[in-house]
Amino acid sequence: MIPYGRQSLDQADIDAVVAVLQSDWLTQGPTIERFEQAMAARCQADFAVAVCNATAALHIACLAAGLGPGDRLWTTPNTFLASANCGRYCGAEVDFVDIDPLTWNLDAVVLAAKLEQAERDGTLPKVLVAVAFSGQSCDMRRIAELAERYNFTVIEDASHAVGASYAGRPVGCGEFAAMTVFSFHPVKIITSAEGGMVLTNRPHLAERLQRLRSHGMTRDAQQMTEPSHGPWYYQQIELGFNYRITDLQAALGLSQLDKLDEFIARRRELAARYDRLLAYLPVTLPSPQHEAESAWHLYVIRLQTERISLSHRQVFEGLRAAGIGVNLHYIPVHLQPYYRDLGFAEGDFPEAERYYAQAISLPLYPLLSDEQQDHVVEQLRRLTEE
Ligand SMILES: *Cc1c(COP(=O)(O)O)cnc(C)c1O
Repeated sequence: MIPYGRQSLDQADIDAVVAVLQSDWLTQGPTIERFEQAMAARCQADFAVAVCNATAALHIACLAAGLGPGDRLWTTPNTFLASANCGRYCGAEVDFVDIDPLTWNLDAVVLAAKLEQAERDGTLPKVLVAVAFSGQSCDMRRIAELAERYNFTVIEDASHAVGASYAGRPVGCGEFAAMTVFSFHPVKIITSAEGGMVLTNRPHLAERLQRLRSHGMTRDAQQMTEPSHGPWYYQQIELGFNYRITDLQAALGLSQLDKLDEFIARRRELAARYDRLLAYLPVTLPSPQHEAESAWHLYVIRLQTERISLSHRQVFEGLRAAGIGVNLHYIPVHLQPYYRDLGFAEGDFPEAERYYAQAISLPLYPLLSDEQQDHVVEQLRRLTEE
């Protein structure tokens, strides 16, 4: 089976992890800070805080933004569950903004209209999680203008977009988002097995994120409520978690970072090749988002179902039967039973629902060969021409 995504590991990655295994520090050691500093430098950000996964990163980013009970978090329905769940962890209400029918990203025009209404109703959000779906940022310039005007915090969920850029600068640089979150899960662009990171330029947010990652503890005398009792002393000044990453994982992430440009170049090449090979099939191809250069985590097509005799499900199952591990990103989050129980229903976000009825994620990862890609295209041609 050709998977839809997978990691690319080499001997340098293995050696980097083994070196940590042979060192004094399996966790809370120097490799974590090296990984953070390398990511911050690469993304032109001042601070980077590494954690055990992007879900934890989203949780503490929301807390650092001050999100709590009685507040609202908005995000796109076309995302992984974690982009919405982070709001629920904080006791906030979650709502969604429908997607742009072309880029499949949160639609900034719909957002503007929804904010106008929310201002009248007194239901403005405190946090917007702007997901860089498939690796390309939303209309971040417009979103940042709206954040200024309506006073909410933008967290860019760039789990798909490590190595992407927007408006000529790296995603994570903090020009249009207060905090940016990355995931290093093996299907994403670079991996640390499990791992996540928050980038920010704001010192007070970085300090808060570091504290929340580790039990709400501090060893910094400046943050303490009374003089230190001695060299052993620490204080817990708020409720935090153990969301730490290990040095083993950080070593893998750091080693993978060396290959980021290479990975993205191959992903772009494969995406451009899909564009050419699929141009005459009854499918809609990804559209570029203005100003965004995608990292190409996913290559998603939409079946033009009215021009195809098989159903969406039959084409999907046909591809799986032909050994192609296609996937579907994403089931609209508001239609999950957990969110239906909170009051959402079919028809609430029609663009995301129409998209869901047509979308298929084709295999895309650096080690996918041209021959494997040709096989994917051939099978898709067969099934859509049947
Ligand atoms: C993968 C993913 C996450 C969660 O990442 P983990 O590191 O697995 O916790 C969050 N948001 C989006 C959009 C993702 O794709």
